[in-house]
This record gives sequence, C-alpha cells and structure tokens, in this order.
Amino acid sequence: MNYISTRDSQKIFTFKDAFLKGLADDGGLFVPQSLKKFKKEELDRLNGLSYNDLAAEIIYPFIGDFMQKDELISLISKSYSNFRSSDIVKISDLGDLKILELFHGPTLAFKDIAMQVIGNLFQYHLENDQKKINILVATSGDTGAAAIDALRGKSNLNVFVLHPNNRISPVQRKLMTIHDEKNVFNIAIEGNFDDCQNLVKAMFNDKKFSKTINMSGVNSINWARIIVQTVYYFYAYFKVGNDKPLSFSVPTGNFGDIYAGYLGKKLGLPIDKLIVATNKNDILHRAISVGDYSQKKVEETNSPSMDIQIASNFERLLHNVKNCNSEVTKKVMSEIKKNTYKIDKNDLNEIKKDFVSETLDENETLKVIKTINEKHHRVVDPHTAVGIGAVKKLGLEKNCVVLSTAHPCKFPQAIEDAISKTENLPGSLNYVNYKKEKFEVLPNDIEKVKDYVLNSI
Ligand SMILES: *Cc1c(COP(=O)(O)O)cnc(C)c1O
Repeated sequence: MNYISTRDSQKIFTFKDAFLKGLADDGGLFVPQSLKKFKKEELDRLNGLSYNDLAAEIIYPFIGDFMQKDELISLISKSYSNFRSSDIVKISDLGDLKILELFHGPTLAFKDIAMQVIGNLFQYHLENDQKKINILVATSGDTGAAAIDALRGKSNLNVFVLHPNNRISPVQRKLMTIHDEKNVFNIAIEGNFDDCQNLVKAMFNDKKFSKTINMSGVNSINWARIIVQTVYYFYAYFKVGNDKPLSFSVPTGNFGDIYAGYLGKKLGLPIDKLIVATNKNDILHRAISVGDYSQKKVEETNSPSMDIQIASNFERLLHNVKNCNSEVTKKVMSEIKKNTYKIDKNDLNEIKKDFVSETLDENETLKVIKTINEKHHRVVDPHTAVGIGAVKKLGLEKNCVVLSTAHPCKFPQAIEDAISKTENLPGSLNYVNYKKEKFEVLPNDIEKVKDYVLNSI
C-alpha cells in the first residue's frame, strides 16, 4: 500500500517511511493513497477468527511491503503474549450497553494494544537495518507507559518520554519511571501535555537535530497505531454478533482511537455513529456539534489522558472531508494554527454523517462512576465514564459499544472522589508500588531538552 501526506498528494511513501517518520516532512500526517473496502464475503470470512488472526488479516494489507504475513502473525502473537486476557480484549454488558475492555495489557490502558505491536515492528526493522534510532514521545500519562513497556530493553534504540510534571497520576508515573533498562529516559516537563507535544514536534521539525539523533516517534499520529487499533472495532462487531450496525462511543483526546473506528467504517465495517466523548476540554465536541474549532486553554480534569486542545489526528478527518485535497487541507491547517478556523456548513454535514459528540464536566463524570457502581456493582475509570455518559446524554444506548480505555486503578483520586473507595492494581502489578523511580525534571525549554537528549545518547 502507498501512503501520502495530508498536505502533499504528489510524493509517494511506503509503509516503512510512514511508520519510521511518524510525521511527514511537510508537517502533514501520513494516510493511505487509497483504501480497499472488505466485501460482504470477506467480512463473513473474518467473522469468528481469534483476535490475533483477525489482527493479521486487518493489518497485513497496510504493511505488506514491510514484512511477510507469517512474520506478522508471529509478531502479533508475541506482542500480546503478556496480556492478562487470553482474548486480548473483553466485552461485557452494562445494562443496554456493551463495554469493550481495552485495558488488559501491561500498563492498564488501551494504548498497550497498538504499542506492543509497534515495539516489535521497530525491533524487526532494526534487526534488518541496524541503524540506532532515538524515539521521542510526548505523553499525557498513558502513551508513555505503553511506549516504555513496549520498547524497554530492545537493542539499537532509546526511548525518551516527556510527561507534564505533577499532572499525571502517581500510578501513571510509576508505570513509566520504575524501569531499570538503560535505553529508557523519562523527562518531566514543567508545563502541560500540549507543551510536551509541542516540544517533540519542534524537535522533529528541527531537521538538523532530528537527523543527528536519527529521531523517530510513536505518538498517536503514527499511522501504524491507527491500523492496529482498528482491529478491535472489527472484533467487537463480530463478537456482539447481532448483524446490526453498531455505534461506538470513544473517550477522545487526540482523535486517534476514534479515527481508527472511522477507518474501520471506511473499510466496510457496519458502523452507525462514532460518538466523540470529551471532558471539559471540549474542542472536538464544539467542532462536531457547531463547527467551532477554536482552541482554548487546556484545563486539568479527572480524565487527564484527554486534557488536550490540539487533536492532531483531526487533520486526517479534515483531509477526508476535503476529498483528500492536500492543498485545501494545508490551507485549513494554517488557519487552525492561527486559531481562525471554523468548519463550514457543508463539511460539518459531511462529518455529522459519521460522528456525533457530547461532553461531560468533572461532576458529571464522577456521577457516572457513582451511578454505575450503585447500579451494576462495578468500577469504571473516569475516561470510560465520559464515554458512557456521552451515550446516555445522546440517548444512543441501543446497539452501542463503549470503549473502556483504562483500568480504574490508574486514576485513584477520581475513584475515591466518586465512590470513596480505593481501587487496587491487579495483583500481578502490585510490585509497581515498591520500585524506585527515575526521572529528570526539565523546564519547558527546547534547548534544555535537546541538550539532555544529546548528552544521554
Ligand atoms: C489516550 C487515551 C484516551 C484518548 O485517546 P485518543 O486516541 O488520544 O483520542 C482516552 N482514554 C485513555 C485512558 C487514554 O489513555
């Protein structure tokens, strides 16, 4: 499959280019040049496959030039061998709703599902290429842990993770900072997540620097993550198995996870609505409900992995909506940068064919956790609560799957506030509480961060 940048349709890239670069040199995001829909018979053939076999069938067409199919099959099974659920994900009932539990990986959030595969894709590439790379990642808490777990101890690469100092939960921090491997570097930036993301972007765009360190990335703009996440939309559809189109409610920050659902729909999966569920950092809700894409200040919430005002992957949707016209996309992106962009009526109608949105504030989120605990004797994490609350507000409970993106123990304060209980780590992860942490606090200053990276490698 060939790839192009959302901002230039002329230059053609391979999967390997798209995967290793992450972001295109022109600042755009990689997207497939064209997509092939699964036919009805093909969907029927996929129905009933194990998670791993399904993953290979969905992923292979996107990366075919990178490895053989049998290599991919063993890579996937290796990637998921340390998950606590033998099916990788689980589907459970919550009243009328289905809950798709995506947090059974090593760092207790859905990001493990893509990241474990990515770690092994890097390893595969480096075994064949042998050029040492340095991976830089910005995290609002969950990506970093997933990246470190997937990359620690792998040869020929270092991983640097920037997280906003004091703005992630202690469990989230510990899952990143307790590792002894020499290729893991944690940096706590005195700023918020968008600051971390901007630092990583700026280092990428500094061609001299990024070339010097042979820089690469695994942030949610990385196309490989999107494809791997698309798998569980298919899996859920087959598992629910009522042959009716499903809607999916997705707790959303950077628009990566929900874009994976949109990709599934483009590939022919019968999806009705994709529900964008946001916390009070509601830029995407404003965008999708009334076309208002103005950026405000990031506010801290009890669902911190969605405390984002720059939803990077939204560029991919805009590119689709603009009929894959890269010149128009480029123009829109420069308006977004100046914070003057508003989605016009036609585009908004186009978006509304596939997406609806809702937003929950802090109290509403806690109330959802509380109500579910009372009614169903079950504890959901605050991100999942936002996803559930959005469906309820919209009245779309029928044939709806809510993505449960994290284990509640990662956000103990929110759980305590909602139901006055402490949620423990799964027993196998108890050791996390007792290990020594290692991280460096740095100011929100690109030169300081660059120096740290250069001195570490
Ligand atoms: C990252 C994350 C999200 C948001 O996913 P995006 O792909 O950025 O939209 C939601 N919930 C949890 C728990 C996360 O870690």
